[in-house]
Amino acid sequence: MQFDEITPQCEEPKFGGMDRRTFLKTLAAAGIAASGAGAAFMLPGTNLMVMPNSKGYLVVDMGKCMGCDTCMMTCSLVHHGEASLSLSRIQIQQDAFQSWPNDIHMAVCHQCEDAPCVNACPVEADHVDIVHGNVRTIDPDRCIGCTQCIDACPWLPKRLQWNPETKKVQKCDLCANTPYLRDKGGPGGTQSCVKVCPVGAIAYIDKMPDQNDPTAYNVNLRDKAWKSLGMTDEDIVREG
Ligand code: SF4
Ligand code: SF4
Repeated sequence: MQFDEITPQCEEPKFGGMDRRTFLKTLAAAGIAASGAGAAFMLPGTNLMVMPNSKGYLVVDMGKCMGCDTCMMTCSLVHHGEASLSLSRIQIQQDAFQSWPNDIHMAVCHQCEDAPCVNACPVEADHVDIVHGNVRTIDPDRCIGCTQCIDACPWLPKRLQWNPETKKVQKCDLCANTPYLRDKGGPGGTQSCVKVCPVGAIAYIDKMPDQNDPTAYNVNLRDKAWKSLGMTDEDIVREG
C-alpha cells in the first residue's frame, strides 16, 4: 500500500480560479486579512471563503510511533465513550511489506489554512469553530452525511471519517468537543492522543506548519532519553 502523505492527492486549492498567492494579493488589495477576521466569511461579491487560522496543530514522528494504537483508542473513548478503532479521528496504518520508518503512517488532520473540507460543505456543518481556537470541526447536528468534505480533503488517507453509527462525518477537533475527557480540550488545552502516547510520538504546536511543504507535519520528536534507549535520534529519510 502506498501512503500519500508526501504527495497531496490534488493540486494546490484554487480560489475562484486564482492560485493562493493571487488570492491573497486580492485580499490585501481589498484591505482584508484572514488572520484578523473573527470568523470565516465570504469575500463580498465572490464565492471565496476567508477563514482565520487554527490556533493549534498536531505533528507526528513516524519514526517513533510503535503502532500500538493507544492514541486511536483514546480518541474514540473521549469523543464517543467507547474504544473503537473505526471511530478514531487519528488513523495509524501499518504496512508489513515496508521497513522502518516507512512501515507506519500516522494520519492526522492538518487543520489546513484554507481548509478544502470547510469550503466543500454545502450546509456549513464543517466549519471554523471560533469558540475553540478556530479548529476546523463538524457540527453533527447540521451534517447531512453527503461526504463532500471527505471528497474535498486533499490527503490520503482522508483525514475525515465516516461514522457508520450516526451516518455522518467526523474529524479531529483537537479534543474541543470531548464529553468523556475530564480535561479541557481544544487549542491550548489537552489533546488526548498527545497525552496517552507511551513514546511521545505526537505533539501539539501552536505555530502553523509550512502549508507549502507536505512533509511539515512529520517532525523529529526524539530526545536524549530516546537515544539512551539505544534508538536513533537522527532525522530519518522516508521514501518519496
Ligand atoms: S458530510 Fe456533513 S460535514 Fe461533510 S460536507 Fe456533507 S454535510 Fe458537510
Ligand atoms: S480534514 Fe483534510 S481538508 Fe479538512 S482541515 Fe483536515 S486535512 Fe485539511
